[in-house]
Amino acid sequence: MSQYWSSLVHTLTPYVPGEQPKVNNLIKLNTNENPYPPSDKVLAAIHQAADDKLKLYPDPNSDVLKQRIADYHGLTANQVFVGNGSDEVLAHAFQALLKHDKPLLFPDITYSFYPVYCGLYGIEYQTIPLNDEFEIDITDYNQDCGAIIFPNPNAPTGRLLGLDKIEALLQMHPQQVLLIDEAYIDFGGQSAISLVNRYPNLLVTQTLSKSRSLAGLRVGFAIGHPDLIEGLERVKNSFNSYPLDRLAIYGSVASFDDETAFQTACQAVINTREVLVTKLAELGFKVIPSAANFVFASHPQHQAETIAEQLREKSIIVRYFNKPRIDQYLRITIGNDMENQALCSALEAII
Ligand code: PMP
Repeated sequence: MSQYWSSLVHTLTPYVPGEQPKVNNLIKLNTNENPYPPSDKVLAAIHQAADDKLKLYPDPNSDVLKQRIADYHGLTANQVFVGNGSDEVLAHAFQALLKHDKPLLFPDITYSFYPVYCGLYGIEYQTIPLNDEFEIDITDYNQDCGAIIFPNPNAPTGRLLGLDKIEALLQMHPQQVLLIDEAYIDFGGQSAISLVNRYPNLLVTQTLSKSRSLAGLRVGFAIGHPDLIEGLERVKNSFNSYPLDRLAIYGSVASFDDETAFQTACQAVINTREVLVTKLAELGFKVIPSAANFVFASHPQHQAETIAEQLREKSIIVRYFNKPRIDQYLRITIGNDMENQALCSALEAII
């Protein structure tokens, strides 16, 4: 392309999502989905929503869902924003709240969508190196900045930052938005949602894709001060952003109504994670402590890429990254017991 617009297009570096294979005979441990199905109550609610009113448009504001999420967290509906997956919620947040004349800060090793959104929306950013143990050291964030974002637990490391540190960051930067992306918080972390009533600069995003087994439904949400939420609503309503569909709204409401199924699935994932961590350590892997539904591990004698290829030959897919500092690490999603057993046996044969 030699036209003037080709140079514009080529400055964008799009996000490359993890592989979604077309065949069903693979053990899929590469994109951090939940191995357990959504609860029967969620499926029943989706059926009912389909039977009742699929011919009608959904509520463009998803009010019942906002209210349900607000009730679940002891908040008011004007503190809740919902979107088609937390990726969409994050996209609106980058535009509405993280664009500033000073740089946005995030870790050097983190969710790879962040630099993509910065490129797309023209946001200046600076990456802050994680320490040698892949931890966020909040003292490194004590500098002039426009806003801060990171996942907690971080991805792809799985490392958790304590709420005390998050509170210290909020106090360090009272005028800047701190966005905590809690996609994986339900697998062992304490949510910063408990802080939103005290810190008007805190925005927390969560998703129903991981702990609630609803990646295919595409629902995420943000919680924060009504002014931050208003900013997100304004961006959403400034272009043709799709509202949640009817099935997504009612399936999500039902998920918040079925606490037992939610807790049981989270606990099962946590238990299997501990089994896998023990096995990986026995096989000589260095395993980063994880509070997420995946583990991040490297082996001193085996290349991550080679292990991933050998697992693939055994019909198991895991993720590795061609990136500085982490190219020796595998990110392995926690599967169900059978999947985990197959993974452990395959690794025993490879290592
Ligand atoms: N944040 C992080 C850290 C993630 O890993 C993901 C999943 N790739 C998301 C947000 C987005 O998840 P979803 O759009 O399914 O809610």
